[in-house]
Amino acid sequence: VEHKLGIHASPTCVMSYEGATAELVGRPNEGLAHMFVMMNAARLAVGVEGVGIAERAYQHALAYGQERRQGRSVWTGEMNAPIIDHPDVRRMLSVMKAKVAAARAICLSTAVAADLARTAANDEDRLRWKGREDLFVPIAKAWSTDVGCEVASLGVQVHGGMGFIEETGAAQYYRDARIAPIYEGTNGVQAMDLVGRKLSQDGGAAAKALITDMKATCGELNRLYSGKPVERLANAIEAVEDATLWLLDAKAEPARAADVLAAADAYLKLMGDVIGGWLLAKGALAAKAQMETGEGDAAWLQGRMDLYEVYAANVLGHASSRLAAVGQGGALLQRMTLDVLSA
Ligand SMILES: Cc1cc2nc3c(=O)[nH]c(=O)nc-3n(C[C@H](O)[C@H](O)[C@H](O)COP(=O)(O)OP(=O)(O)OC[C@H]3O[C@@H](n4cnc5c(N)ncnc54)[C@H](O)[C@@H]3O)c2cc1C
Repeated sequence: VEHKLGIHASPTCVMSYEGATAELVGRPNEGLAHMFVMMNAARLAVGVEGVGIAERAYQHALAYGQERRQGRSVWTGEMNAPIIDHPDVRRMLSVMKAKVAAARAICLSTAVAADLARTAANDEDRLRWKGREDLFVPIAKAWSTDVGCEVASLGVQVHGGMGFIEETGAAQYYRDARIAPIYEGTNGVQAMDLVGRKLSQDGGAAAKALITDMKATCGELNRLYSGKPVERLANAIEAVEDATLWLLDAKAEPARAADVLAAADAYLKLMGDVIGGWLLAKGALAAKAQMETGEGDAAWLQGRMDLYEVYAANVLGHASSRLAAVGQGGALLQRMTLDVLSA
């Protein structure tokens, strides 16, 4: 039984079988494809684990933000105010909430695509949804588990010094979240799966269809916002389009294999950031439509619109730096030899 960084309630051991015999499942040389039937579901489930830990870390931090008092609030003027009334703490909680909502939406969209890949009315639609499922699975796994770690880390930060002390419980989410980017295929392996197999298996059709869908939503956003919130999504989608075309070109040249692998992590992160923003924008549009009918909780619906704006300001702006990392090239990383790294 191993001593681990986190998930102490889940005992883990390594077993080695000497002289074991195995039974072939299916036809020879098709094992990897068979395994992916299980792996797609398992990877989505681990993405959901990232969402679950992030949500719990958020709830914990939200409660502490109301309980802990410190400093004068610039908003209320109160001395010894609850820390939630300081802009920086409100920023952390808002970003946590927005990222949890985006990761949850990505995982749910992946599940919807997986269902429709089996149940849609005709072959063409089933194939289209299968393409979306395949494209989304590595993103749901890797992006959501990274969000699990980021949000759990922010949760520790909201707790200040008490976050580093075990009795508050904030540190446990941080430790428990850290395994999810590693198991069921490390997030580096997910990124390689995305650029190596998923992106080009249909000549880029699934990625291009996604870009078309995202642009359609962006075109409707003018109904809700003017200026920055619309521009940020438009620019981020453009970054996805540029990165996708760059990768498809690079993949067509075997000599650029290292360029593709050097771009993998940044491309997955860019996709996750922008798909998350697109889905929150759809949520904001749906909230606006419901508000116009006069039904539902108006404050909650306004909150969905503000949540997209928070996400657009804090996350979508990173799209240009993700795009820069996509184009860094394999040769640059190869020049970072052991001599350079250890100097
Ligand atoms: C708590 C826990 C529970 C687990 N439970 C199970 C289980 O129930 N069943 C099971 O089968 N396994 C289980 N695992 C194993 C887990 O799936 C592996 O640890 C994981 O897939 C990573 O493989 P590895 O440890 O061999 O890392 P390595 O392959 O050694 O990877 C080390 C680093 O190198 C990178 N890397 C490796 N190869 C490449 C490459 N070709 N290109 C680019 N980068 C690369 C990785 O991304 C990673 O960053 C568990 C592990 C842990 C820690």
